[in-house]
Amino acid sequence: MTVPPTHPRYASLLLRERLVNAVEASVATPAGLIAHGRGEAFDYLLGERTHPFAEEAVRAAASLLLRARHPVLSVNGNVCALAMDDVVDVAGACGADIEINLFYWSSRREAAIRSAFASRHPGVVVRGQEGGRIPGLASHRATVDPLGIGDADVVMTPLEDGDRAEALLACGVQVIAIDLNPLSRTARAATVTIVDNIVRALPLLAREVVRQKREGTIDPTGYDNNSVLASAEHTLRAGAVGPEE
Ligand code: ATP
Repeated sequence: MTVPPTHPRYASLLLRERLVNAVEASVATPAGLIAHGRGEAFDYLLGERTHPFAEEAVRAAASLLLRARHPVLSVNGNVCALAMDDVVDVAGACGADIEINLFYWSSRREAAIRSAFASRHPGVVVRGQEGGRIPGLASHRATVDPLGIGDADVVMTPLEDGDRAEALLACGVQVIAIDLNPLSRTARAATVTIVDNIVRALPLLAREVVRQKREGTIDPTGYDNNSVLASAEHTLRAGAVGPEE
């Protein structure tokens, strides 16, 4: 199917097409399509644009990444399908590791995601799920690289449910979430929650990391994630404006 660029839902339809292609390539799963649909609904209600509450969280996230001893960006199938290049940009800018972590893990899926990264970013090291363990987590996502997430003090966990964020926080790891639903467990548990579509949030984050590297990191002590989430929820409930067309 060719979507004409003049179609009012062009950007949204392109993202859907990327995900459908990712399912065909074993990078994403059918369940990932449903998770994307949930995100789309929130994005629609938020007007499909970045709000000040997300910009504030992006600034805090950049500071957290730059101050970390060992930051890791966690990648699942949807993240790979929607934002692989941006993940590489953020990792390059702040010196973070990239690690695949899948709820519906199979060696085939992990290999498919590795090969997607290798085809566009041949020099980039992508860690996988082997050898290490996050305590208190029952799913396969508990399995991590001991030298990656197993050694991290800050982990970015975009587009996933709350179990792993909660388990990481219980181990003393700080968590950055990217989640369009400010009411989700992940959003509520995380140290910093960017309530925005990952396709807009990560390019902003990459630019902010570069800016803070140049000008000095911001002091994170004034950042209040609960107030950021409250602003996002207020905008959802009060606004419900729908996207600009
Ligand atoms: P929780 O356990 O945290 O309450 P959940 O059960 O809603 O989460 P999933 O069904 O795994 O978790 O959904 C993943 C989350 O990712 C959803 O909250 C959804 O809103 C969000 N999401 C999906 N697509 C995007 C996107 N493109 N950008 C940002 N967030 C997204």
